[in-house]
Parts: sequence; C-alpha cells; structure tokens
Amino acid sequence: MINTNKTHLNMVIGYPLIHTQSPVLHNTIYHEMHIDATLLAFSNKDIKSLIQAIKTLSIGLTAVTMPFKEQILEHLDCYSPEITTLKSVNTIIQRENKLYGYNTDVDGIRYALRGIPLSNKKVLLLGAGGAARAVAYFMKENNAQLLWLNRTRKNAENRANEFGGEVIQKNEVDRVSVDIIVNTTPLGMYPHFNCSPLPGYQFNSEQIVFDLIYNPIHTALLKQAKMHNATILSGLDMFIGQGIRQIELWTNKTIFSENLMQKIKDDLIKNQLNHRSEQYEVSQNELHDH
Ligand code: NAP
Repeated sequence: MINTNKTHLNMVIGYPLIHTQSPVLHNTIYHEMHIDATLLAFSNKDIKSLIQAIKTLSIGLTAVTMPFKEQILEHLDCYSPEITTLKSVNTIIQRENKLYGYNTDVDGIRYALRGIPLSNKKVLLLGAGGAARAVAYFMKENNAQLLWLNRTRKNAENRANEFGGEVIQKNEVDRVSVDIIVNTTPLGMYPHFNCSPLPGYQFNSEQIVFDLIYNPIHTALLKQAKMHNATILSGLDMFIGQGIRQIELWTNKTIFSENLMQKIKDDLIKNQLNHRSEQYEVSQNELHDH
C-alpha cells in the first residue's frame, strides 16, 4: 500500500512472476515493523529495462527471482563475497546510485536448519540449480557430506566439482544411507501437488527431510516422509528468513526475532486461508502444524 508521499517503492523482478509470494511476504513485514514501504512485482523479459527502472525509480531493495539470478551479475557495481561461489543473486540494494548484489537464500537455509547437527552427516541433495548451490554452500560450511542426484547428471557433476561430494543415479538411491534429504527441484510445487522427486522411497524415522518448496507447505515428498515418521521441514522458514535478511540489508537494521518469524508465518498462512488463494494448498491442519 502507498501510505504517504514518503513511501518507498521496492520491487521483485523475474519472468514470469506468476508464483511469487514476495509481495505478500515483504508487505506483511513492512506492516508489522512499521516500515513505510511497499513491494510490487515487475515482470519483464528484458533485464536491461528492469535495471533501468531500478535506477530511474531509485528502488532501494529489489528481490530477484528466476530467470535473472545469474544474468543480473554483470549489471551490478559490486557484490558480496559469497556470490563468487554461489554465482546467483537474489537481492539488489541500491546505495548512492550503485547496485550491490547479495544472496540471502543461505541466511534463509541457516534459519530453516537451525539446531540441526550437520557435521559429517550425509546429505542427499535433489537438484543441482541455483538453490542447490546455496544449500551446498551452507552444508560445506557445516562439514556435511554431499550426495548429488539430478535429472541432468552433467549438472550434478559440475556442482560436485564446485562444492565436493559424490554424484549418484536414481537407481542407487535406495542403496545409500542418508541422514538428511533436501529437495531443491520444483517437483511438487503448485499446481503439481502429487508430484514427488522420490516416489516410492522408503524413508526412516531418523531422517530429516527439507523441501525448499513453500507452495504447497506440505508437498507430496513431505507427506511421504511424515508417513514414515521422518522429521519434515517446509520451505516456508527459509522463504521468510531470506526475506527478513533482504530487509535488514536495505534498512541496515536488525529486525529478526523469533516473534516476528512466528507472526509472519501465521499471517502468511492465514492470508492464504482468508483469501482462498489458488497459489497455496493450505488446510487448517497446516495452520496448526506450523
Ligand atoms: P533452477 O536453478 O532452475 O534449478 C532447478 C533444478 O531442478 C535443476 O537441477 C533441474 O534439473 C531440476 N528440475 C527442474 N525441473 C525438473 C523436473 N521436472 N524433474 C526433475 N528435475 C527437475 O531453480 P532454483 O532457483 O534452484 O529453484 C529450485 C526450487 O527451489 C524451486 O521450487 C524454488 O521455488 C525453490 N526455492 C525456494 C526458496 C525458499 O525461500 N524456500 C528459495 C529459492 C528457491 P536440470 O539440471 O536437469 O535442469
């Protein structure tokens, strides 16, 4: 909402932007933290026009999503050190007409996996794209052992060369013992609710299964894992965590608190319930489970 003649305009850029929940997330946090700003979605194929818009409109915070996370690099004046490894930017902050790139996905992952011991744990990473890079970066920081499984083996091999770990094939997955499974593929994302990246897999109750998807909150993969009493984590904590960090970078203030996290999580889920949004498969059970 534009509140005053001083309201800051922020944006999320991508193409297409059908599934983005960034405006709901940001605008809920702005409201909660009394930040006089609004975030709007700008969908355009042409990255140069978007960069021009950021400069012309003096946009302070720009959230970046697919397919621009890598392409945007060459348009920035500067980026944070981890971008050299991640090769992916999800946040642009404009300061004194200069564009600074960051990746707050790692912060979101750190929050989602808080309290989980990772050292020497075997982590099966499903997918080998931009989000998988952020997960691998975090896992490497925490001395976990990586196993890569991806539709295109070559991409998994490239990631294993960058971050370490072994590449496995789909027919080997039942034979390897893993402690943590992380889905970074879009399999199971709205509207493909019944799609799982590991159909028929025998989970065990010692395993932790983290699905980066947050729409729906309970994916087919998480439902399967829960049936076998594995510990499940949805992508919602990561999504909120990465968004809070974006705002902290922009305002240069710490706003994170467990209370804020919980409030935003409840608001996001309730918002979907109240508006019967087609973009979430939310049930009362999901509301109570989180
Ligand atoms: P990406 O760079 O396009 O990578 C997608 C990966 O999934 C690739 O490894 C791709 O395999 C694989 N894949 C795509 N379609 C597939 C299919 N039909 N069957 C099997 N594998 C398939 O995308 P990304 O940026 O990493 O994002 C991936 C997911 O993470 C999305 O669902 C996104 O919403 C989610 N995400 C969540 C958060 C959060 O805050 N919770 C943040 C970032 C991303 P190939 O190598 O064969 O192409």
